[in-house]
Amino acid sequence: MATDALGQKPDGGNGRVLLLTTPQTYRTEAFVAAADRLGVEAVRAINLPAELAHQWPDYVVLDFDDLDGAVAAVAALHQNRPLDAILTVDDSGSRLAARASAALGLPHNAPLAAEAARNKLRMREVLRQAGVNTPWFHGFPLSADWQAVAEVISFPAVVKPLELSGSRGVMRVDDAAGLRAALARLKKMLEERADFEEEPAFLVEEYIPGAEVALEGLLDDGALRVLALFDKPDPLEGPFFEETIYVTPSRLPPDTQAAIAACTARAAAALGLRRGPIHAELRLNERGPWLVEAAGRSIGGLCSQTLRFGVDASLEELILRQACGLPIDGAVPGGQAAGVMMIPIPEAGMLRGVAGIEAAEAVPLIEGVELTARINYPLIPLPEGESYLGFIFARGDSPAAVEAALREAHGRLRFEISPYFPMSTV
Ligand code: ADP
Repeated sequence: MATDALGQKPDGGNGRVLLLTTPQTYRTEAFVAAADRLGVEAVRAINLPAELAHQWPDYVVLDFDDLDGAVAAVAALHQNRPLDAILTVDDSGSRLAARASAALGLPHNAPLAAEAARNKLRMREVLRQAGVNTPWFHGFPLSADWQAVAEVISFPAVVKPLELSGSRGVMRVDDAAGLRAALARLKKMLEERADFEEEPAFLVEEYIPGAEVALEGLLDDGALRVLALFDKPDPLEGPFFEETIYVTPSRLPPDTQAAIAACTARAAAALGLRRGPIHAELRLNERGPWLVEAAGRSIGGLCSQTLRFGVDASLEELILRQACGLPIDGAVPGGQAAGVMMIPIPEAGMLRGVAGIEAAEAVPLIEGVELTARINYPLIPLPEGESYLGFIFARGDSPAAVEAALREAHGRLRFEISPYFPMSTV
């Protein structure tokens, strides 16, 4: 049968995957488009209570936190429509993907690996045991008071919840007063979560100084293939850690890049991540690369739009190809530099309008501006918030030119934000 440059069989029938999604994710469309392109059937599942199933007729509705129930539902689905793989689009489905894959005998990371990659305390324990550069760390229950915490840590430190993502609740603290304020804030955040029942509840760890990078990779039988290394040219020094610009390829020297890949591979092996996508954040200083976090999923938000492989294949295509046993050897990174800016939230309030989008899109090298925040909805910055205003994409001949274009485009955007008074306070 004829195949394209990456070995695709154009007449479809290339497999069936279950995609675990959430109502909040931006990732589903890219996976579905990639599946269509590959002739893979993507069955979409969504993390919702069963009562809402009628509102999502195109989805299999599953409660990801009811692991036994969800695994049984996936097994029943598999009986009628056999699956080749179960993939999660973000962290929320990683435990279910691993558990259901194990139950159905499908290739996936072991459930224990998904557990370690989802729980920041577990991850630190596993990495320390494996001899990967690890900051000091301590786990605490929600009831721990700040004086007790202050007695066992030193400054600067980072306070973080065990299972949130997107830098939510992650705060740098430089002294006892800062620790007291940060813990009060974190406790309020965690207590407000209906599903909150972890014990221990939060982690305090050493602040790792240095520049930060993000590595996007694919694991195959434990071997790491680096798909992209992103520099993060804006300093991320706290007190909160809002992502802004990602640019690839990295401008770091080749030996530093090799050390980053080696550290990620060691961390993946220690965590038991052996197959499928890996997304890792690392910091670099005179003591080498430090793993901040690694997860068995691909990059979040709309950031994957920056990546192109071989003959215009997307990151999602590579992930689906691997999941369905299609060849990925032709998947070399596209030649150009590319970047994305996650547009930061300038202040809390109600988003009333955004001006300058056309002017921003007119900047050379800018591929597009996508606003994801909704007009007349509240904007909540970190550490409590969980989203960005949107994304700016650029592509060009050099990382420096791409970064400059992103900054220029961002400078042309104007956000109108008015004060927000929650109903309970008026
Ligand atoms: P999340 O999973 O919510 O993104 P992370 O643990 O990855 O949480 O932390 C988010 C960001 O906070 C990191 O990308 C990094 O910039 C910063 N950060 C987290 N832990 C540390 C640390 N120990 N030292 C320095 N910065 C940190």
